[in-house]
Amino acid sequence: MKDSNFLKEHNGRLMWHPMTSPKDSIDQPPKIITEADGVSIVDVDGHRVVDGVGGLWNVNLGYSCEPVKKAISAQLDTLPYYSTFRGTSNDAVIELSYELSEFFAPDGLSRAFFTSGGSDSVETSLRLARQYHKLRGEPGRTKFLSLKKGYHGTHFGGASVNGNANFRSAYEPLMPGCFHIPAPYTYRNPFNETDPEKLAQLCLQALEDEIAFQDAGTIAAMIMEPILGAGGVIPPHPSFAPAVQEICNRNGILLITDEVITAYGRTGAWSGARLWGIQPDMMATAKAITNGYFPFGAVMLGQRMIDTFEGNPNAKIGHGYTYSGHPVGAAAALACLAETKRLNVVENAAARGTQLFEGCQALQKKHGIIGDVRGGYGLMTAIEMVSDRTTKKPIDAGTAAVVQEVAYQSGAMVRVSGPNLILSPALILSEAEANTILQALDAGFTQAA
Ligand code: PLP
Repeated sequence: MKDSNFLKEHNGRLMWHPMTSPKDSIDQPPKIITEADGVSIVDVDGHRVVDGVGGLWNVNLGYSCEPVKKAISAQLDTLPYYSTFRGTSNDAVIELSYELSEFFAPDGLSRAFFTSGGSDSVETSLRLARQYHKLRGEPGRTKFLSLKKGYHGTHFGGASVNGNANFRSAYEPLMPGCFHIPAPYTYRNPFNETDPEKLAQLCLQALEDEIAFQDAGTIAAMIMEPILGAGGVIPPHPSFAPAVQEICNRNGILLITDEVITAYGRTGAWSGARLWGIQPDMMATAKAITNGYFPFGAVMLGQRMIDTFEGNPNAKIGHGYTYSGHPVGAAAALACLAETKRLNVVENAAARGTQLFEGCQALQKKHGIIGDVRGGYGLMTAIEMVSDRTTKKPIDAGTAAVVQEVAYQSGAMVRVSGPNLILSPALILSEAEANTILQALDAGFTQAA
């Protein structure tokens, strides 16, 4: 590796970072992470912190997962790559398809289409949704519905269903025919409703209204995160997702759950669909499928999709990626799934999630900068920062950066996204490590006050 002077000199200069302006990368150089183990990361200056971000919501099993490393290494020795395009397959991906169909059977999903990551999984599900309706003789069903504040990756289809202008406006015009429903976001919503159950009802009514306005026969699918993640951890009232499913079913609209974050245990349930007791037609997964050890994703498919595509000679899937079903990714995913089940990570995610959520609520009592704390379902927690609790004026970027930096110097990496401070650590986090994150945040808020 080059020495730290070289790294610092070139940091932020020669690479454009995602979700960052090139100028910001030069003015505020990114932290250079050079090592990681357990749930901790170490920077180029040797500063070690607990990773409160879990990579990017994906490193559920931490950075020292030996079975995954061994599986990748063994797969590299036997078959580093072969494609799964028409005519070829590989043993690792066949075994993975088997394991995933068992794992997602309670969600009613028993086929897999493999991708290279979350945006690919979203794009795949949108494309297959349109094809599904064409195959069934309803080619006019082309539109998509989604939630405001939802995040669905950055491909053109995914960006079109995204519900946040930050990921949309610079790239418009996006895909036509995408319509956004208010999110069940209790802290801020167009109805000024603070009761989660009543708010869910209002959002559902907005969904019904939009479907009637568009004409149900023009809509292909509704895509939504079971708990909105990047938009600031927004868990809906438990009545919401089952009602969305009922509305979609009643109107012949496919339901896609975007579980790039929520699948594989993060919510304290094995999937977001299982958390809410729904059975989507498709589920987009990625991230923790390989825990950051390899870029990989899978779209899981339900019975309606299976019945429509299988056995139909016209159902050729004109879609896929060079790395769909990559054997090294498949080997990594097999090992991750085995570890995820062996460690029963949902239990720890639920227990540590409650600890972090309650710890953040205690911080809210102490620090006026905290407007709202959201979570309560596994290890997905957000703190929404404000400069004034009464007016709910969002915090300025400079103050948020102070909180983040002081927390980092005090022992925890946390992520700031707009006014939200987001916590999504590994699901193997210990009680002591969760406390380290809370103490570091306390220091950050104290300094920023
Ligand atoms: N969908 C959701 C819900 C996500 O949170 C993300 C990424 O954070 C994506 C899609 C896009 O995944 P990727 O960044 O792997 O393309």
